[in-house]
Amino acid sequence: MSNTYLCTAIPYVNGNPHIGHAMDYLLADVYARYCRERGDDVRFQVGTDEHGNKVFSTAEKNHIPVMEYATENSQKFRDFIEQLDISYTDFIRTTDEDHVRRCQAIWERLSPHIYSADYDGWYCEGCESFVTQKEYDEHSGCCPDHQRPYIKLTEKNYYLRIADFKAELRTNIENDTLQILPEFRKQEMLRLLEDTPDISISRPRKQLSWGVPVPGDDSQVMYVWIDALSNYITVLGYPDQDISQWWPASAQFVGKDILRFHAITWPAILLGLGLPLPRRIISHGHVLADGQKMSKSIGNVVDPMAVLARHGLEAFRYYFLRHIDTFTDSDFTWDKFDQAYTQELANDLGNLVQRLATLCHKNDVHPVAGSPDLSDPNYTELMTSFHFSKAFDCVWSKIQALNREIDSSKPWELAKRGETEQAQQVLCDLAQKLLDVSVLLRPFLPDTARKIQDIFTADDIIVPATPLFPKP
Ligand SMILES: [Zn+2]
Repeated sequence: MSNTYLCTAIPYVNGNPHIGHAMDYLLADVYARYCRERGDDVRFQVGTDEHGNKVFSTAEKNHIPVMEYATENSQKFRDFIEQLDISYTDFIRTTDEDHVRRCQAIWERLSPHIYSADYDGWYCEGCESFVTQKEYDEHSGCCPDHQRPYIKLTEKNYYLRIADFKAELRTNIENDTLQILPEFRKQEMLRLLEDTPDISISRPRKQLSWGVPVPGDDSQVMYVWIDALSNYITVLGYPDQDISQWWPASAQFVGKDILRFHAITWPAILLGLGLPLPRRIISHGHVLADGQKMSKSIGNVVDPMAVLARHGLEAFRYYFLRHIDTFTDSDFTWDKFDQAYTQELANDLGNLVQRLATLCHKNDVHPVAGSPDLSDPNYTELMTSFHFSKAFDCVWSKIQALNREIDSSKPWELAKRGETEQAQQVLCDLAQKLLDVSVLLRPFLPDTARKIQDIFTADDIIVPATPLFPKP
């Protein structure tokens, strides 16, 4: 048995779960379930990123103690993950006491690569935050929210010397010790690495009070990087415990917008700690709304809760795992979703199950559940190369082939002619094939796969009172 550790990005809790988060969870979940099917012992991390000024100020605005606000919002994500039937094993919050203490220990271990320097930039006293030169230029030197001119401000920050790790990191990415998928993202990261400056990893406490205190310097609080990225190892107990049983992670799943932090900043931290790099980082594309990027200002954001409510969880998992490609941007529209539900889930699969169960029941067929056939090389190749939507296509083509086989073998005609044994044989064979397909279906639609198993391995095959995917 081998150990497989999978990680998902931890969302910032100052907002609601969206489709992008669902993609992280679903992709990791399919792989986790697949690995368990092949006998791996799987550990699967999820969690929430809870420090920072936005969480602090929203809590203050709403007159809620900040920890209470963070807890409430963290729970929203946990509920969402549960609703998607994600088979995680560990949920970490960056406000967990263990995490905070471990982060500080990590900072101390990184100290040979940390230095302090003055940062100076444009600052709005109303926003209490720095703006980039670009923002300064765009707003002609004046904050649009506060109608106050930006001022030049100098503050002390601690920096992580990325330069210490560039050469080693480049080698590791080039030779796929740290594999970045898809390939074109790997090339993008190699180009970015070249120009990556040292990164600021702290803020003065007066700028950022809600965060992990920097050890040995009361005036400074950790900025997001070490606090959030370390969760992938603090959740395993690092540095209090030996994590070599689980680390390096087999795969980390992230959206393309945060890939650079996972492909450059995070590995730099790991190299600084003398830890191995994750084996691979899977960067998934975005779900588009009718061809457009979802955005609040356009008003085209698709609420995952509304998608879940439309046809239930299995349809949700089905659409985002089959019709959204692992690596590139793909489209969601309500029409496409409804069409996939009706034509594929209800017609292809729901009808097949209903029809076959009815024929088996009528003809007194008792399929014997043999050992499932998982040896489809095409499926295995696609699953292990993280082309999940294509692996799902492969499963679906088997479902469609079974529909054609029922139509061409016409077991009902055999039965009508009194060729009972032949009819039973044909149906038994079809039921066995459907059971085999249901095993391949398990990582994608665990509940549907279980229902198919329950129907066709029962002593007496009972026709389900309602089809698996009733027409709306
Ligand atoms: Zn301002």
